[in-house]
Amino acid sequence: KDYNAASRHIAVLAFPMGTHAAPLLSFIRQISTAAPDLTFSFFSTAESNASTFRTDSTLDKIKTYDVWNGLPKGYVFKGNHAEPAEYFVKALPGNFREAMDKVTAETGKRFDCLVTDAFYWFGADMAAEMQIPWVPLWTSGPRALLIHVETDKIRRHLGIEGDPEKTLDFLPDFSMIRASDLPDGVVLRNVHSPFAEMLHKMGLALPRATAVAANSFEELDPIITNMLKSRFRKFLNIGPFCRTLPPPFSDSHGCIEWLHKQEPASVAYISFGSVVIPPPHELAALAEALEDVGSPYLWSFRGDPEKLLPKEFVERSKERGKIVPWAPQLKVLEHPSVGVFITHCGWNSVLESMVGGVPLIVRPFFGEQNLNNRFVEAVWGMGLGVEGGILTKDAMVKALKLILSTEEGEKMRKKIGVHKELALKAVEPNGSTTKNFENLVKIISNH
Ligand code: UDP
Repeated sequence: KDYNAASRHIAVLAFPMGTHAAPLLSFIRQISTAAPDLTFSFFSTAESNASTFRTDSTLDKIKTYDVWNGLPKGYVFKGNHAEPAEYFVKALPGNFREAMDKVTAETGKRFDCLVTDAFYWFGADMAAEMQIPWVPLWTSGPRALLIHVETDKIRRHLGIEGDPEKTLDFLPDFSMIRASDLPDGVVLRNVHSPFAEMLHKMGLALPRATAVAANSFEELDPIITNMLKSRFRKFLNIGPFCRTLPPPFSDSHGCIEWLHKQEPASVAYISFGSVVIPPPHELAALAEALEDVGSPYLWSFRGDPEKLLPKEFVERSKERGKIVPWAPQLKVLEHPSVGVFITHCGWNSVLESMVGGVPLIVRPFFGEQNLNNRFVEAVWGMGLGVEGGILTKDAMVKALKLILSTEEGEKMRKKIGVHKELALKAVEPNGSTTKNFENLVKIISNH
């Protein structure tokens, strides 16, 4: 292998599920551009590498290596998305160690720095053993991160099986958060799941990191950011990634052209991210609500719409709506025709909507989506959680009308505008994100 003996060699450990490996790769590419003398070995599962590097087969400074996905021989996916993730988590960290040892043997070159998804608590011990810096990247925002850092304290105050309505008033700026809003596995549900245990260990390990990076910007949550700064050796917000690391634009289904033909702020854009598919009765309820309100819609649909949506709806969609398997979401949300975003409230979607200036209607499913929903609604005033927590026709009609055609919707747009300005300032040449990124490049390249 053509490693430059003089160059620093960085090990990058990606989390293969959800929207994790792609932003980590974009981040590494950004570092590579800023510090061209570095070489990177990028580790993830074969499936994840194939999809993350789909459009990037020519990255000569970044080589990919596959790690075992943890699945037993002959495993068949039966629809529970948590299952493959649990198998994968159980294979940690042995699967990474094995692949990394092979690379060191093959290249004869040790690693000089360890960059990992923040999930990988074992990065602390690995980096200590190798006596190199550890830089975990948290692909989400500071509020969810603080929850994992404070899990023991939260459990002490709320009790693991305590009152779901009890609030987190013992943490500054969290008094509007209830036990039931917390990410899965902190209290109430699934506290012993492999995923919950990973996040718990992560919260305990991150203070040992050389620097923790996150996908947010300092001005969004200054109180929380300062709390994290006091707990970590260094905490650097280097987002929003939708501005600093935008994915390459491609629009093979003509979404943008279709949006050009719609009225300003009239379209409902729908996407539940890269993992979730809502159950059929909820999809049908949403379809009915869209028809009832009569707004045009652009739906990024996971799965087969012919099977999962009412037949007549798909037929009629040809007039008023557009259903596609994947949309250029960032550009869609920045398009003036989009008036509302119906979402599961994944962190990337929240930031993209903020930068696009579009209010949200939220149907959260798992992980930190409940928590994000609560901040969107109660802290940033950017949108509404769907009444009753699931997609029903009545609740959706009400929420759509409120956002698309009342003064309250207008107010939300104004509030989002304030955050949007802050986000755009952060990524300017002298902005906080730009400075934090430069700082991080120095740490990783040891300059
Ligand atoms: N996304 C996209 N087109 C689609 C659906 C999703 O580009 O049709 C992108 C979206 O812009 C976001 C990511 O996929 O960057 C979803 O990330 P998020 O954190 O919201 O949810 P997750 O996929 O992790 O559940």
